[in-house]
Amino acid sequence: MKIVAMAIGIGVIAGLIELGLPAEDVYRAVRSEIRSHEAPSDIVVVTIDDATLNELQTDVPDRKQDAELIDRLFEAGATRVFFDKAYADPTNPASDAALANALVRNPETYIAVAPPIDEGVNEYAALIPSDQFKQSGKLASMEGHSAPFNLGYRFPTASSFEGKLIPSISAGLAEYEGPAKEYRVDFGIDIHSIKRVSYIDVLKGRVGRSTLENANVVVGQTFTGTSDMHYEPLGAKIPGVYFHALGAHTLRKGVPVDLGWMPALLVSAAVLLWQASQIKPSRRTSAAAIASLLTVPLGLDYLSVGIDVFPSILCLGIGAVRLDRLAQKMFDEATGCLRVEALEQLQPDKDMSVFALKIREFSFITRNSSDQVITKFIEEAIKRLSATETGAQFAFHKDTIVWLRPRLQPNDLSDHLEGLHALFRTGVGHAGATVDIAAHIGVDENWEASIRSRIATAIQSAEDALHAGTHAIVANAEYLEQRDKRLSLLSDLDEAMARNSVQIAYQPKIDLQTGRTIGAEALLRWTHPSHGAIPPEDVIEMAETHKRIDDLTIYVIDTALAGARLARNINPDFHIAINMSAIALTRVQLIYDMTFLMSKHRVPADKIILEVTETASLDDRRVTAVMAALREFGIQISIDDFGTGQGALSYIKRIPGTEVKIDRTFIGDMLSSAESRSVVQATINIAHSLGKRAAAEGVEDAETMKLLIEMGCDHAQGYYFAPAMPLNEMLLELSEKRAAA
Ligand code: C2E
Ligand code: CA
Ligand code: CA
Repeated sequence: MKIVAMAIGIGVIAGLIELGLPAEDVYRAVRSEIRSHEAPSDIVVVTIDDATLNELQTDVPDRKQDAELIDRLFEAGATRVFFDKAYADPTNPASDAALANALVRNPETYIAVAPPIDEGVNEYAALIPSDQFKQSGKLASMEGHSAPFNLGYRFPTASSFEGKLIPSISAGLAEYEGPAKEYRVDFGIDIHSIKRVSYIDVLKGRVGRSTLENANVVVGQTFTGTSDMHYEPLGAKIPGVYFHALGAHTLRKGVPVDLGWMPALLVSAAVLLWQASQIKPSRRTSAAAIASLLTVPLGLDYLSVGIDVFPSILCLGIGAVRLDRLAQKMFDEATGCLRVEALEQLQPDKDMSVFALKIREFSFITRNSSDQVITKFIEEAIKRLSATETGAQFAFHKDTIVWLRPRLQPNDLSDHLEGLHALFRTGVGHAGATVDIAAHIGVDENWEASIRSRIATAIQSAEDALHAGTHAIVANAEYLEQRDKRLSLLSDLDEAMARNSVQIAYQPKIDLQTGRTIGAEALLRWTHPSHGAIPPEDVIEMAETHKRIDDLTIYVIDTALAGARLARNINPDFHIAINMSAIALTRVQLIYDMTFLMSKHRVPADKIILEVTETASLDDRRVTAVMAALREFGIQISIDDFGTGQGALSYIKRIPGTEVKIDRTFIGDMLSSAESRSVVQATINIAHSLGKRAAAEGVEDAETMKLLIEMGCDHAQGYYFAPAMPLNEMLLELSEKRAAA
């Protein structure tokens, strides 16, 4: 909008200060050349030429000769006779009287006046006939104006002289009767084709009657050295008398209408406004508009309609270029995709939801691709989305596709999100192959927020979804509030980790055969100064959603291995079980961190068990690679919370685990539920048949323990044996037990 207003402003100013006038006139002159056609023969110029002066042996015809000329012209059938000459001063009385008489005899004779004006075709100042002629003849005005650089001429149809309106020579020649106005002389009529006869030929009766019959005549100087010479636009100097004749022809064709610069500027403004409403203004439209602004005047010239197009072309040109540049900014240079900022420009109404779809590992997938291939890949993905998101404008940001769609009811929304997720179930073509892409979606439903912040929220939520390992997050006001709360907790967590005030509790693990403590599970404990103890699951989720999970994982491993080292001083067989977030396993760096911390705390690999839940995606190549590497070192892997997830059997087969840990929900109701009992028994059997150990968690009483022993379970932990406890307590218990044994 700003650009359009500015461009129109420039156009208006250009129009007002006539900035483009020379250009306009040059173009008009060029058009005249194109249209050039011959003048009709009903207006005749009688030339006081070199031949006349030679034959009369004078440097200017005498007034007696002028008087005779007038008689001859009317005898030959002329209708009106104009002198482009003022007869300002008296000469010899006999000649003056002869002319005065001729004027009286021939009342359709006009002598010229140059009314007192600033600037005229005739360069001299006011020229007024002496009283004698003023009374006996009619008067016509020589007034005319030239444009800068003589690129055009304007004549009045009448001038005011001594309180009356007198016709201009051109208007008189054309017998123009309309209202007084100024008009532009039309150089489309070839000035050189204007009919002419020599003064001397008329005087000597050498001109045939047919030449002057019913013609209007203007007499003027054309001899070499006359001062009355003017430039034809883009041409040579021509005697001034022809300009009056040309003006007459112009008027004969119809008085030119001058539309000025406003109509064309309005057209430009309309085109610009339309362009500004487009996301990508069409260069073609601008070019076509400029082309028609250039050609329409040519057509209008034929209709004697004048129009100034320079301000409008200036306006359209500047506006179109600026809009184009702005539009370029709307598109990403490398990918050519619409930028998200462009969506802001759409000024969508409040009822639109903002969707963001993050392509996981986008930069990894496209790491070896050229810009074009990447663009194609994004286009492929967008094409998929178009199936359900008809009419949406898709923008792209880093690895996320963003678009707006009309608001959905909650039920429809979750169906829709399912549908979107399903769209990417089959691979997308990329660089000649098909790649599987995992997409995470963020939806903003904060209807009142600004579009900019809504787009940011949608993109962030897609990222949150990725970190949380969920398909989609719908960010409504409640979600954002929770998120803010978590964010403030998060900075507290950062601080707590820095000050080592995040703690690890140790829950002893018992060998059911011997009843001896063989190790412990490390469990996170964080007591927030004002919120109190925060459940470890919440701390983990928060860390996962806000990219702290890697820091937290390292922190836990570091602390737990430090504890294990002390425990191993008492019991060398002590092993430490550490819970691993599924996301932590996607980080290849974990392998190096692990080896570093193992050697730092001198804990051997086979005394470390990493507890992995089924949420870790085995379809993720990085996860399987990390697990394989850890197994290679000799680190043990326990399948945690076994039985709570889905597809448990295939999972147990594919994971390189050494232990299956039966979840406490089954152990807890083993005594009362036959079903749980059979799940536990089946799990133990499966584990053993695959050469893995079976471990039970959440053993709260002796009966449960006995039952597990009967069932052949290897290890167990639970409140019956000991709750999770601080390191010192565990070390004390270990030493006491050792002393007892
Ligand atoms: P989990 O891996 O299933 O851990 C066992 C949970 O059962 C612990 O809860 C433990 O305190 C509790 N528990 C132990 N004995 C009994 C019992 O006899 N009866 C009952 N009802 N519960 C018992 P906690 O410490 O609240 O941890 C909850 C979950 O948080 C853990 O479940 C684990 O998934 C996660 N978690 C804890 N610490 C960490 C950590 O350092 N890293 C990761 N990634 N996750 C952790
Ligand atoms: Ca566990
Ligand atoms: Ca569990």
